[in-house]
Amino acid sequence: MHLASGASLGYEHVILAPGIDFEPVEGHDFQAMPHAWIAGEQTTLLRDQLLAMPAGGTFVIAIPRTPFRAHTAPYERATVVADFFRRKRPGSKILILDANPAIAGMRRTFSTAFEGVYRDIVEYVPNVTVNAADALNRRLDITRDGMADSVTAEVINLIPAQKAGKVLFDSGLVPEGSRFAPVNPLNYASTLVPAANVHVLGDSQATGQAKSGHMANSQAKVCVDAILRALVGLEPDPGPKTTAAAFPPITRRTASWTTATFSYDPVTMTMVSTSSAKAPEPTEEVREEQGPGWLRNLQSDSFA
Ligand SMILES: Cc1cc2nc3c(=O)[nH]c(=O)nc-3n(C[C@H](O)[C@H](O)[C@H](O)COP(=O)(O)OP(=O)(O)OC[C@H]3O[C@@H](n4cnc5c(N)ncnc54)[C@H](O)[C@@H]3O)c2cc1C
Repeated sequence: MHLASGASLGYEHVILAPGIDFEPVEGHDFQAMPHAWIAGEQTTLLRDQLLAMPAGGTFVIAIPRTPFRAHTAPYERATVVADFFRRKRPGSKILILDANPAIAGMRRTFSTAFEGVYRDIVEYVPNVTVNAADALNRRLDITRDGMADSVTAEVINLIPAQKAGKVLFDSGLVPEGSRFAPVNPLNYASTLVPAANVHVLGDSQATGQAKSGHMANSQAKVCVDAILRALVGLEPDPGPKTTAAAFPPITRRTASWTTATFSYDPVTMTMVSTSSAKAPEPTEEVREEQGPGWLRNLQSDSFA
């Protein structure tokens, strides 16, 4: 393995989890229209643009086709900003342009919010492809239900389609024409170079499981368990399970939740969704206690 410093490292097993990279959109200037899909400078930039937005303005969230990082998160962003607009920027609107035919995560929860508590703020439009961005004029050229159109807005959150981290393309771990790295979900070893002991997990892998932090944590446990077994000559656990969860805020005082379990199917040799659950409705208890508790546990488990 070659490092940016020029040094090389030998290994028996290597795990790569480089997250996501973006497919290009013509004219997309990340400073003018932040993707804000990797936390840090980009999310701060979007927040600053929203704070600077005058009352009565329009905020566009352009959502890419699936699969992308955190299927519930663009809609969650809409509810958080809608709550902010209601309190601090009266008369402002959110236009959600979704490349997908329907809300990609927690559909009932978010459609209830968009059509209910935020009906005067949020407009949700499915089946919209962004063809090009014009930073100077704050405009997106789009195709909406097969027809060319354009939208302008004071603030535009253009989230491009996603693919595995660049290092995986550079290392030949993503096949031609694919966006993510195929792996064996028993041990997350690349199926393109099975003998190389290169493992890929998190958002870069192509198993069809949720692309989330909770899921990346879950996959890491399966992967490391398989590596420890391999080091002493054992086969991986033949029946791994992984889990995902999200606790999106719906209003300033309420939040919802969803959980999903994936199990290994030996017939198809894939991870399949075997159970899921959702909150019946958003509550203050989820917002104040369950959501923060989940986050604390996940963070202390991941970064211990
Ligand atoms: C708005 C939003 C809300 C979300 N909400 C939730 C949620 O409620 N629940 C949940 O579970 N998940 C949530 N997620 C998703 C979660 O953040 C990601 O799924 C998770 O971070 C994926 O982990 P990862 O390790 O694959 O990638 P990352 O966390 O992106 O980590 C990859 C790391 O690898 C580094 N890297 C890349 N290439 C190289 C290289 N060549 N050399 C060295 N380092 C490299 C990157 O800089 C980065 O630090 C959310 C995401 C967003 C954007």
